Amino acid sequence: MKTIDLQSVDVAIIGGGPAGLSAAMELRKQGIERVVVIEREAEAGGIPRHCGHPPFGFWEYGHVYSGPNYAKRNVKEAVNAGVQIFLKHSVTKLGAHGVIDGVHPDGAFRIKARRVLIATGARETPRSARLLGGDRPVGVINTGALQSYLYLKGLKPFERPLIVGTELVSLSSVLSCRKAGIKPVAMIERNQRATARWPLSLFPRLCAVPMHFGAELVKIHGTGRVEGASVRMADGSINTFECDGVLLTGQFTPESSLVRMSDLRIDAMSGGPRIDQFGRCSDPSYFAAGNLLRPIETAGWSFREGRRIGGLIAADLRGELPGTADAVSVYCNNNLKLCVPQVLIPSTMEGLKHLQLRVARATSGRLVVKADGKEIWSGMRTCLPERRLLIPIKSLSIPQGTQQLEVDFVGR
Ligand SMILES: Cc1cc2nc3c(=O)[nH]c(=O)nc-3n(C[C@H](O)[C@H](O)[C@H](O)COP(=O)(O)OP(=O)(O)OC[C@H]3O[C@@H](n4cnc5c(N)ncnc54)[C@H](O)[C@@H]3O)c2cc1C
Repeated sequence: MKTIDLQSVDVAIIGGGPAGLSAAMELRKQGIERVVVIEREAEAGGIPRHCGHPPFGFWEYGHVYSGPNYAKRNVKEAVNAGVQIFLKHSVTKLGAHGVIDGVHPDGAFRIKARRVLIATGARETPRSARLLGGDRPVGVINTGALQSYLYLKGLKPFERPLIVGTELVSLSSVLSCRKAGIKPVAMIERNQRATARWPLSLFPRLCAVPMHFGAELVKIHGTGRVEGASVRMADGSINTFECDGVLLTGQFTPESSLVRMSDLRIDAMSGGPRIDQFGRCSDPSYFAAGNLLRPIETAGWSFREGRRIGGLIAADLRGELPGTADAVSVYCNNNLKLCVPQVLIPSTMEGLKHLQLRVARATSGRLVVKADGKEIWSGMRTCLPERRLLIPIKSLSIPQGTQQLEVDFVGR
């Protein structure tokens, strides 16, 4: 294990997932010399390492990979591009002006970077943060843990779990269970319809997993292991499912603990760092990319976003990014629950292509952007929670001197 003490680099990237690795490749492609990726796990690749199913990588490499093979390809491409990857190195502190501290198995390290990219991804909400009642038995896990048990350790954490949630990741957990011979007793969703897009949402039924909508987990039972789970069904009755595990899927949250502990500004709505359209944080030596920015996007989106922001960091190192003096804050209202980026700099230089929005509940109606109260853009849209909702930044002509932009989704 190589130890790095007080090393100076051009760009330090925290997180070796699709976003971090693609940014690193792009930086090297654009001639940036010393690019390092700092990864806390024993292998780089990020979440796809334990998604033992396709489809990954088609748009990036013109080939459909399983998650682990896609992760390997990303690592290989980054290493071939001359990126140095430090494994088992966890960053613990983001200091001012690109000084980061961390630990590795043999001690501590400090890196001074001209620019730092934070690409630490997102995670699912664990039991503790979901305020679930009942006993505290073994066998209540998230999809990420299920996938690492199955694909990285070759272990089965349960045989008959109850699956909570119907996001895309919930369906991928049904696939993982099926491949491992695990038979879920049911899948429950507190809303009246599946969160994942039709016809994908039919997948659990095709695998003979009963689905219950308007159903909410209220209590988990079991002294040692999980023995059952009580669910309030759509008609108000309580049904106790006999199961040996509870799989809590989705409800993603950005992995932003480092940002919270730093002086960087955080966005309360997305849970990630506040950035401008160039991916730049409130301390301009820091940038952010990937699912840390918003819960959540696909691996392909995170890869492309990382590559784009990698290119913008290279531009910044060449002194090409505009200053932040005329920054305009973007706020979202009504049915919108987040907007990324949260700051726009009036400039002819293109950064991220879109304002990325998410709705709090199913909404259909007029999406409107106002500059200091005056409408500058609108469009009719229909959107469900956790689905992508985009406004091309190029289509917004922001009048000079604008103080703030507001995005409103006035709908049913
Ligand atoms: C359980 C789960 C299942 C998913 N399944 C799919 C799927 O099937 N298909 C799909 O397209 N997307 C899936 N996703 C979405 C996934 O987040 C993206 O595919 C993609 O991995 C995001 O890339 P990223 O680089 O932003 O983050 P990640 O892939 O999460 O990579 C972040 C990296 O940062 C490292 N890291 C974090 N903190 C530190 C630190 N302090 N110091 C050093 N390293 C650190 C982590 O170890 C990790 O390797 C899933 C997400 C989760 C949580």
